[in-house]
Amino acid sequence: MVTGAGGGIGKAIVHRLSGEGVRVIATDLRIGPDTFGDADVVPVAADICDPQQIEKVLGALEGAPLDYLVNAAGIALFDEDGSTFEIDDRVWERVLAVNLHGLRSMTKAALPALRRGDGRSIVHIASVAGLRGMDAPLDAYQVSKAAVVSFSQAIALQLGPEGIRSNTVCPGAILTPMIEPIYQADPQRRQAMVDRTPIRRLGTPEDVAGAVSFLLSPDAGFITATDLVVDGGWSNQLK
Ligand code: NAD
Repeated sequence: MVTGAGGGIGKAIVHRLSGEGVRVIATDLRIGPDTFGDADVVPVAADICDPQQIEKVLGALEGAPLDYLVNAAGIALFDEDGSTFEIDDRVWERVLAVNLHGLRSMTKAALPALRRGDGRSIVHIASVAGLRGMDAPLDAYQVSKAAVVSFSQAIALQLGPEGIRSNTVCPGAILTPMIEPIYQADPQRRQAMVDRTPIRRLGTPEDVAGAVSFLLSPDAGFITATDLVVDGGWSNQLK
């Protein structure tokens, strides 16, 4: 089950997993039967902030067990987010509602089915912003992603004895509809990001999907409560 499956990273994760033979329930706010072509994907349109719609997503399992959950749905309100002392409270609440509360609701609702599955792995897409400060403040987003990191670690400790693992992938700048408009409007900013990234390029959704696939797989069977940074080395330098 993949949330945010209509977005840049979520879609790449669905393609990656379905290419590996996984049957995927793909959910997003707007998602249709054509989104994934012929792949063995069950699309379900739903808002992860609405408990009834979450139940609809779980209903797509038709009682079957769930092997993997990937929480990729998220929002970044670049135009309205900023310093916590300046932003509108509604921005704070909206970002936390989706990135933290929706993610938690989805995970909580999926747990009974995950307990019956064989995969026993959950991956949340957090962000390097959840691990360290941003160059320009984006406080609601940063705090929401730090909370996702903490949430993942908390449940990893609780679910570990059952053999269920929980990890995050923390991407740096990945070219998706979330950030493409910013770089299109400001090519110099894009180039500056490339120049500050030791592997001299921006990330692709496939870079993130590969990390997710690894963390879901038995190869990562002894890895839990970990945060895997996928940023070309960007965050690991003093600037
Ligand atoms: P995206 O905007 O392309 O995809 C996000 C998807 O989440 C969208 O399809 C959107 O419809 C969905 N979504 C938003 N609110 C929802 C809700 N309430 N219910 C259901 N679905 C909802 O962005 P992306 O870059 O693919 O982002 C995927 C994840 O990766 C996000 O959690 C994002 O914060 C994180 N991330 C992205 C980057 C980046 O550079 N692109 C970097 C770090 C982390």
